[in-house]
Amino acid sequence: LMIYADAAMYAAKKSGRNNYVFYQENMTSGTERRSKMDERLRLALLNDGLSLAYQPKVEVNSGKVTGVEALVRWQDDVLGTVTPDELIPFAEDSNLILPLGEWVLRKACQFSANWEKEFGVALPIAVNISALQLSHRGFVESVKLILEETGLAANRLELELTESTLVKDPKYAQGVMSALRDAGVSLSIDDFGTGYSNLAQLRRFPIDRLKIDKSFMSEAVFNDQDAAIVKSVIALAKILNLKVTTEGIETEEQLEFIRSLNGQEYQGYYYSKALPADELKTLLLKKLAQAS
Ligand code: C2E
Ligand code: MG
Ligand code: MG
Repeated sequence: LMIYADAAMYAAKKSGRNNYVFYQENMTSGTERRSKMDERLRLALLNDGLSLAYQPKVEVNSGKVTGVEALVRWQDDVLGTVTPDELIPFAEDSNLILPLGEWVLRKACQFSANWEKEFGVALPIAVNISALQLSHRGFVESVKLILEETGLAANRLELELTESTLVKDPKYAQGVMSALRDAGVSLSIDDFGTGYSNLAQLRRFPIDRLKIDKSFMSEAVFNDQDAAIVKSVIALAKILNLKVTTEGIETEEQLEFIRSLNGQEYQGYYYSKALPADELKTLLLKKLAQAS
């Protein structure tokens, strides 16, 4: 009763002072979902209740798959589907991002190492890293340990960071990134163009790749301004000697556009959405058979 009264009081305050509001269920459903999520996520981390989907990264010119990006998936019996856009911020707020991030990294490295063992060809893997993981003191050591445990060569692993991760404490981030680079791991900037891009600083970070955010692609072929941004970022990457990946390629026309700009690599529904391990296997083996 106290919780409900409190919720009603906050709703009243929110709608202006000198007011009264009756309690309604939707006022607490958000908090209830969050406390359920906390409980369910802890369980999922213990019982392997999460999974990874893998999206191919494709070379523009040859159409060859250059690797995959691991994306977390959570289908919970009680909560239903929880998307990464809900899960990751929640995990960041509730101190579960470290165990979650470690689980993702280990699973992804294991997948790539197994692939190489089974098929005799490398399938480099890209993993998204949250700002809180990067700023955790033991991060570099835990990456090295996971590589050792899974037997994955460091040059098969690419870590994706966002611009906002780098601007919080640039000096510290620079140190961690250099240590990762020294260990042989590649680094890329994800969602490039959507954060606060300090270009002067960008030069100083030891990065290998820019990933152009998919929001520029949605209409890039039709919208002159987005097209100009995509074009400039591809040119910027070339000048800075960085690799470049365009995200969110959904149509032949968009791929043509990227090809005309000499963009190297893309990801998007046009080639494939992120797939569970077994479906990815089927897809890549089929493509391989078609090519030979
Ligand atoms: P992201 O790293 O930029 O990943 C790309 C997102 O775009 C994925 O969404 C992917 O499914 C989606 N996508 C791929 N191709 C297309 C396309 O052609 N069109 C459209 N409209 N979308 C496309 P997803 O899997 O929902 O992930 C969303 C975000 O959540 C990711 O963005 C990443 O920032 C974060 N995320 C996902 N998994 C993890 C994780 O394990 N750890 C961390 N820290 N973040 C993660
Ligand atoms: Mg990413
Ligand atoms: Mg992205």
